[in-house]
Amino acid sequence: MPTIVVTGGGTGIGKAIAQQLAHDGTDVVVTGRRRDVLDDTAAALGGAVRAVELDATDPSAVRTFAAQIGRVDVLVNNAGGNTDFDHPAPVGLDEVARAWRRNLDSNLISAVLMTEALLPAMTTGAAIISIGSIAADKGAGSYGAAKAGLASWNIDLARRVGDAGITANIVSPGYIGETEFFRDALDDTSVESMVEAIITKRAGTPTDIAQTVAFLASPHARQITAQTFAVNGGEHPSR
Ligand code: NDP
Repeated sequence: MPTIVVTGGGTGIGKAIAQQLAHDGTDVVVTGRRRDVLDDTAAALGGAVRAVELDATDPSAVRTFAAQIGRVDVLVNNAGGNTDFDHPAPVGLDEVARAWRRNLDSNLISAVLMTEALLPAMTTGAAIISIGSIAADKGAGSYGAAKAGLASWNIDLARRVGDAGITANIVSPGYIGETEFFRDALDDTSVESMVEAIITKRAGTPTDIAQTVAFLASPHARQITAQTFAVNGGEHPSR
């Protein structure tokens, strides 16, 4: 039975990815730091999903998880978010250093640790998909820099694992509603102006991202690797 690991799978985009990939004959494991949230998600997805409490930035916890998981066919490095939203603006160099390290830990180191730990459990046909951000291209302080670093790391990762038949790609969302990402910070006017900047004139949904991830995880995408896929409704066009 294929095993699929989705970090940060208890809410938002990760939950939608777990739902998309959970079908007969797959073992989907969602991870996150909040036990109650994970249990609610596992229950909501009808028992097709297993919940494991895990801080993806903690090497010791990741090591223990990897020792217990067995073979892994798909790893989705989705855990992350802009940690600046949970803290007041940093004052002084010490706080600046802490703030930058929080975003790098949450969005880059988490993916690196999970991938390094689970790679030995992956063989030909496996797929690693990491969730980047439009912020990597548009700029957004330490959060955007962390997501840009994630995309750069992914290229090197793809080179390392390519001859083992493993792919590594980034899915880079634009503004996605229906998640905990923005906490309670967005009022109607902010949402309207964000949607106005999107060519499709709608916010993205977690399902938009999940369907792209599902394609990259499927047998139809075996020649696609080392790429970044923007799913942003044209908010940041590319050639
Ligand atoms: P959510 O806040 O709903 O989801 C983030 C998830 O990551 C939560 O379930 C959280 O669970 C988990 N998480 C955070 N840190 C850790 C950690 N250290 N270890 C384990 N789990 C962790 O927001 P989204 O669904 O929107 O975000 C998913 C991804 O999409 C993120 O990487 C985000 O940066 C990215 N993204 C989102 C966009 C948007 O507009 N929503 C736009 C571009 C990118 P818990 O707190 O319980 O650990």
